[in-house]
Amino acid sequence: MAITRFAPSPTGYLHIGGLRTALYSYLWAKKTNGEFKLRIEDTDNARNNEDAVRAILEAFEWVGMPSDCEIEYQSKRVDIYKKYIAQLLEEGKAYKCYMSRDELDALRAKQEAAKENPRYDETWRPEEGKVLPQIPADIEPVIRIKAPKEGAITFEDGVKGSMKFEANQVDDFVIARANGMPIYNFVVAIDDHLMGMTDVLRGDDHLTNTPKQIVIYNALGFEVPKFFHMPMINNPQGKKLSKRDGAMDVMQYKADGYLPEALLNFLVRLGWSNGDQEVFSMDEMLELFDPNNINKSASSYNAEKLLWLNSEYIKAVSNDRLVEELKAFDLDLTHYNKKTEILDLAKQRAQTLIELKNAVNTILEVPTSYEAKGSKKFVKEGTVEFLNKYLVLLGENKDNLYSVDKVEAITKPFIEENGLKFPQLFQPIRIALTGGTQAPSVYDIISILGYDETRSRLDRAIE
Ligand code: GLU
Repeated sequence: MAITRFAPSPTGYLHIGGLRTALYSYLWAKKTNGEFKLRIEDTDNARNNEDAVRAILEAFEWVGMPSDCEIEYQSKRVDIYKKYIAQLLEEGKAYKCYMSRDELDALRAKQEAAKENPRYDETWRPEEGKVLPQIPADIEPVIRIKAPKEGAITFEDGVKGSMKFEANQVDDFVIARANGMPIYNFVVAIDDHLMGMTDVLRGDDHLTNTPKQIVIYNALGFEVPKFFHMPMINNPQGKKLSKRDGAMDVMQYKADGYLPEALLNFLVRLGWSNGDQEVFSMDEMLELFDPNNINKSASSYNAEKLLWLNSEYIKAVSNDRLVEELKAFDLDLTHYNKKTEILDLAKQRAQTLIELKNAVNTILEVPTSYEAKGSKKFVKEGTVEFLNKYLVLLGENKDNLYSVDKVEAITKPFIEENGLKFPQLFQPIRIALTGGTQAPSVYDIISILGYDETRSRLDRAIE
């Protein structure tokens, strides 16, 4: 049973890298009958932003991955963190450091000149028999953790394998600022413990935080959870994903006409696979996903694949669902008698809900203009004549036109008998009925529009 969490810092919108982390955490918790929790890491007051929190929660609602507990906000838990700081001070596992800003800057400059990694020099670290400097009157101390000076910090990462950080790679880092506010790596460890995390899945940009957090776990005698550090999502050129490549607000995908199922399916494959299967229902994801199989190398964002998946989901979901989704794009088909037929036809070629809406409108709307390239076909000798002849035929069969097969059954012999080629009849009809040349099958459109509407649109175009 895995207890997992997603812990966004509300510094902006939720982007797809974050959503992928959340999805993997969600799947793993659900698969093992565990719990998935959301925690908002908003202790950084300066950057804390209510709008960002709202945007993140809105995105979660859209994709349908609710938290199994009340959403935790770190900003509301400061007293808890302070209690642990006090405890560590009392136990001698943390200490007050009165180094001034100038002294710290001088130390950094010295280390930089010597090409050493920045590292606190332990001036204020209490040791047996060590005499500490005189406490300056004008400096509020920060609190530093007493990190181990020997040995190594090791852990088994579920993605990266055995990880080892030498003790000298972690210095006595600050766990609380001079104003008493605890810092990031400290509160993450406290919360992950108190919230019962068994498995922490996050981006490998956090890998260097992990040894620090383990120092905290060890100092407090907490059990260390299992970590899964996931490789980044790159653009097709192997570079960091930019906004242009798709690293945008998750809600932008909604606005662009993607179904959440398609986006989640896309994300599950972006860093994990099950043979060459591409389409995964949520049930299949839950059955098959295992974070121990997350790819070790970075994955590559493929916009074409997302479009393809979206078109598959548009075809697969119910028409009732599409009617609901299209409302967000100002198209309400609720009261159309022929909505099923219209959607069945329109969704064949739509890759996004926007394309679906356009396809539906192409069918529904009486064209007000005609594509220039195509409209010439009307004036070609004979066109009007055989279109009128075709209209007579449709009129004779007007009660049967509501079946695609029937329209086809009367149209094919008409084409043959009149010595026409298919495009000669279909192109002008497409233009007349929809205004464009790219519309779907003529048989389908005629069967949806019926005789009267077909006739009226043809008459208008011929005029
Ligand atoms: N708040 C961190 C972030 O948004 C995630 C921390 C974690 O997963 O441990 O990147």
